[in-house]
Amino acid sequence: AQRSLVLVKPDGVRRGLSGEILRRIEAKGYTLVAVELRSATPELLAAHYAEHEGKPFYGPLVEFMLSGPVLAVVIEGQRCIEGFRSLAGATDPTVAAPGTIRGDLGRDWGVAVQQNLVHGSDSEESAAREIGIWFTS
Ligand code: ATP
Repeated sequence: AQRSLVLVKPDGVRRGLSGEILRRIEAKGYTLVAVELRSATPELLAAHYAEHEGKPFYGPLVEFMLSGPVLAVVIEGQRCIEGFRSLAGATDPTVAAPGTIRGDLGRDWGVAVQQNLVHGSDSEESAAREIGIWFTS
């Protein structure tokens, strides 16, 4: 079956929403294959966010992702990459649809980076790459 790398970002962990987010993933019917609370490093984030290097939000994004522990999760299920992105909602939590993780639990905090609670892989290629980054490094 398909696998995806999900991160509960530092805002989600800090706000005590890890359980709620894992609950929604399990309620949807996906399996938790691996769950690990860990601290990111600059090297790990440089690999994870390589495609965003040079963008205006890159610095604030890395700083935010280093601001506290992250819950790294591997989920499994048919079409779980697309399914989790649908559960997560739009990138900007202000306009993410109600019913989604970002729409129900997130908002704009007036800072340079969108603190939007979760990350989910966007393709099979990124899932394989990101699972390697978070679970073998
Ligand atoms: P999605 O693909 O659903 O938009 P994502 O997490 O994959 O979510 P990316 O476009 O890959 O989003 O951007 C990575 C992260 O960088 C976002 O989740 C968000 O935290 C932050 N970000 C993205 N775009 C902006 C922006 N314009 N301003 C501030 N922060 C941003």
